[in-house]
Amino acid sequence: MSALPVVPRWFARAPAGPGLDRYAEPHVHRWFRANIWYLRGTELDLVIDPGMGIAPLRAAMAAEGQWLEDRPVLAIATHGHIDHMGGMHEFADRAIHAADAAALDGDEAQHLAPAFRAMEGAVTALPAPGWQLSAFTAKAAPATRLLAEGDRIELGDRALTVLHLPGHSPGSIGLFDEAGGTLFSGDALYDGELLDDLPRSDPAIYRETMDRLDRLAARTVHGGHGASFGRDRMRALIRDYLDGRRRAGCPGGH
Ligand SMILES: [Zn+2]
Repeated sequence: MSALPVVPRWFARAPAGPGLDRYAEPHVHRWFRANIWYLRGTELDLVIDPGMGIAPLRAAMAAEGQWLEDRPVLAIATHGHIDHMGGMHEFADRAIHAADAAALDGDEAQHLAPAFRAMEGAVTALPAPGWQLSAFTAKAAPATRLLAEGDRIELGDRALTVLHLPGHSPGSIGLFDEAGGTLFSGDALYDGELLDDLPRSDPAIYRETMDRLDRLAARTVHGGHGASFGRDRMRALIRDYLDGRRRAGCPGGH
């Protein structure tokens, strides 16, 4: 295998709305290339899904002029998969739903790391000289706050409500800003193939989550992967998923 190039900027940043930026890891295989959301409030900032943990995220945000050390920040993992929570260890305050909390602890943090290391084209560049894919692991970073359905996260000028959206994983959550109509949906809903066949997925419960999302008055959805979308695309994605499950003849399909 030819040597991979070392890239000076591991993360790509794109403005995504008022006080919101999306960071991504373009040199990570697309299956593990998740969205990292940096949402700034007047009292509290959120980093929603801090990525793989391959390269230092806070330093990258500082290099973009966005990281202010004296501001309180809460890191939230929408669920316990490595592409969303691998960077949680960089943050002192770490939140996840209770049903996925074990994924931040010790051995369980590793459960998707071997699959990533074994992938052809897992990374297409290196974040630093000498970085080795074979040595990559998820660092344990136990939650300091457990989230549950209905919890409110106050940022000062806006607030988000925790929606428990299980199915992709038991502790998958969304974060919904009712006032702005903005939903951070994690892997419960994004514009791409939705996964309900992972070791801790549950398709029957996922369908209930989809029915709930179908009724949600969201105008903008920022998913765990891919581009953001509006209400019409949201409903189409939900329909596509439910139709696909029905065709697959899942028991309980309706
Ligand atoms: Zn996931």
